[in-house]
Amino acid sequence: MEYGPAPESDKNAMEFLDRHKRSFGLFINGKWVTRKETFPAVSPATGQVLAQVAEASAGDVDAAVKAAQKALPGWVKAGGHERAKYLYALARQVQKHSRLFAVLESLDNGKAIRETRDIDIPLVARHFYHHAGWAQLMDSELKDYKEIGVVGQIIPWNFPLLMLSWKIAPALAMGNTLVLKPAEQTSLTALLFAEICRNIGLPDGVVNIITGHGSVGEALVNHPGVQKIAFTGSTEVGRIIRKNTAGSGKKLSLELGGKSPFIVFEDADLDSVVEGVVDAIWFNQGQVCCAGSRLLAQESIAEKLYEKLKVRLQKLVVGNSLDKGIDMGAIVSPEQLKTISSFVDKGKNEGNEVWQLENIPSAGCFFPPTLFLNVSPASVIAQEEIFGPVLVAMTFRSHQEAVKLANNTRYGLAASLWTENINLALDVAPKIKAGTIWINTTNVFDASSGFGGYRESGFGREGGLEGLMEYVKPKEEKAFSEKTFAFKAAGSSKAGTGGLDRTPKMYIGGKQARPDSGYSLQVVNPAGQVVGEVGEGSRKDIRNAVEAAQANSKWAENTGHARAQVLYYLAENLSARKKEFEERLVETCGYSAKDAILEVARSVERIFTYAAYADKYDGRVHSTISRNVTLAMNEPLGVLGIVCPDEFPLLGLVSTVAPAIALGNSVVVIPSPASPLSATDFYQVLDTSDVPGGTVNIITGPGEPLAAELARHFDVEGIWYFGSAEGSKNVELLSADSMKRSWVNYGKHYDWLNNPLEKEFLRKASEVKNIWIPYGA
Ligand code: NAD
Repeated sequence: MEYGPAPESDKNAMEFLDRHKRSFGLFINGKWVTRKETFPAVSPATGQVLAQVAEASAGDVDAAVKAAQKALPGWVKAGGHERAKYLYALARQVQKHSRLFAVLESLDNGKAIRETRDIDIPLVARHFYHHAGWAQLMDSELKDYKEIGVVGQIIPWNFPLLMLSWKIAPALAMGNTLVLKPAEQTSLTALLFAEICRNIGLPDGVVNIITGHGSVGEALVNHPGVQKIAFTGSTEVGRIIRKNTAGSGKKLSLELGGKSPFIVFEDADLDSVVEGVVDAIWFNQGQVCCAGSRLLAQESIAEKLYEKLKVRLQKLVVGNSLDKGIDMGAIVSPEQLKTISSFVDKGKNEGNEVWQLENIPSAGCFFPPTLFLNVSPASVIAQEEIFGPVLVAMTFRSHQEAVKLANNTRYGLAASLWTENINLALDVAPKIKAGTIWINTTNVFDASSGFGGYRESGFGREGGLEGLMEYVKPKEEKAFSEKTFAFKAAGSSKAGTGGLDRTPKMYIGGKQARPDSGYSLQVVNPAGQVVGEVGEGSRKDIRNAVEAAQANSKWAENTGHARAQVLYYLAENLSARKKEFEERLVETCGYSAKDAILEVARSVERIFTYAAYADKYDGRVHSTISRNVTLAMNEPLGVLGIVCPDEFPLLGLVSTVAPAIALGNSVVVIPSPASPLSATDFYQVLDTSDVPGGTVNIITGPGEPLAAELARHFDVEGIWYFGSAEGSKNVELLSADSMKRSWVNYGKHYDWLNNPLEKEFLRKASEVKNIWIPYGA
């Protein structure tokens, strides 16, 4: 049968544009603000200019932030139930106007109407419904948390309205007000959304939408009135934002790029796999951050699969976005088309075997579905995010090789596994470093499940309970204070018997190690007496410690129960030597005996607390909309760098190390630079407590340079820093290159004695991986 077009009417969308005289202002404080400077919204399928859109100035950004600030107290005071009603009204409005939204989105972005109608817009409504529920339940389910304040949100062009809903729904539910900037290529559905905010009577200033280019986003990121930035876009811009917000105290979530593996084991149902591939890389023209863009096929079935894919590829229909019969629409812009073409040219020049759909429209921004076969894992097209309909295929022999290839990327957004063997799938899923794992399915999303990356795919989650945590902060704000909680030196300190004659080494891989520099540093107590010496650690020592921590992956594979036993034993052994530790604190910190006894007792108790959590910090099973079991698993970050506070030399060390290792991380610790001797004594306790070598590595020496080394190191997945404001800024800046998770104190003091953020340490020591397992015979 011949294929014939089945066009969707654009009448309502055109009426909407005409009603606005094809020119849109900014939506600030509930009103439309017109601007002289504008840029065109162009339909990539036809090149038609749909409307003119205002380019916001720095002054407009300021006005929008001020409007959000003004609206904040009222929005918080409205309470969860009132907010739930507004979110519900937004959900209903999206549903009522779903056809208009779908058509406008397809026109503006170029994507197929079948997808906007059946996937994007229903999911948008679902997000508002789901978060109406969270607003309603905030007081009971999140009673220890409160809103952050004014949030700046910046989104990309690939799922314009969907990304808006992922950002706006949780922010509003938790009582924040916001300023959102859509991508310059796709502003129109955000502006239609602004109109429905007005229609439902959302209080002025709660949602502000400002349009424009990257500089508008930059002004929003840098505005001092914004307490949080939520960004989705490229890793390159994400990195700039991490640097620009360093030291500011702004909370940050970054949803960035990906190069996700699509792994096919030999027992997979290959016909389902072929349809999976279509959804993985040819959905939304491949402009999907979590697109399965690397096909890893087991060697035994690779040829058979490739043959099937070549046939399927030629059956895809590429055409006008409003044609209901097409599989793929237009690429968003001529610039993006150029980027994709240049990657494909590189792939061809490298000599890779390539297959492309032959028949695509000659006018408009179209690119054929493309398949590269037998690509080397190191090739540019196998490593870089192309963000287009381009699949690169390679083979593997063993399961171990599949995991290795899957993780051979700087990204970690998602992975899709295809096998009929559930044991194999669940064995491989935890080994892949990615935030979402789909088993025998791909590119499925839901508001109740978190989505987000590992490594350079960014940090933070959107969706589900884990996503809400990005829009709240603990109510217990006094946990961090300008004033120190530390004990005062009693003034009676004296250098004891453990003085100068002892120069402890560092502790790497379960062994004492001399510093690479060969130098040591004197340790002086508050009375000015030299109480010992420690090794002067340097870059090389940090590198060795990270290597030892990395080699210790078995620790993470232990059960929570096994880790708990080690921690209890650690507490027992510390307790057995408490006298010695108390004396050390008196000698090195000038503590009173009473204070020393308290610090040691709390240290023992703290280890017990996190031993207790080791097998109780469970994940969840999310209730997603499709027939899936969606397991939200708390996974360790991997190698975590810890820079201990100056105060509480023993308790500060224990309170950070215990939660980190309880959840399976291996740590590289820089103990209190002022009083490192409690830490060096701690080696012996570690040695006698069955803590495997490499789990805890301790490098003494100058705090700030060592912290900088940790922050820079690409194999350190996270860093906690408790030191100065300047040092905090530096850690955030330096961690931008590897996009590592950082937690810093901005120079404030934590109440280590009472540990008010007990559970926060566990959250910061882990990240959530969502594993989707569909069911149904
Ligand atoms: P982009 O980073 O170029 O732009 C994203 C947004 O940031 C736009 O609104 C842009 O105007 C703004 N921006 C640009 N420079 C800025 C700056 N210096 N400061 C602040 N804002 C700035 O990305 P894009 O090309 O629009 O989108 C494609 C990228 O987005 C891909 O890398 C894709 O993987 C990623 N993405 C990620 C997710 C996710 O959830 N992880 C989802 C969708 C897209």
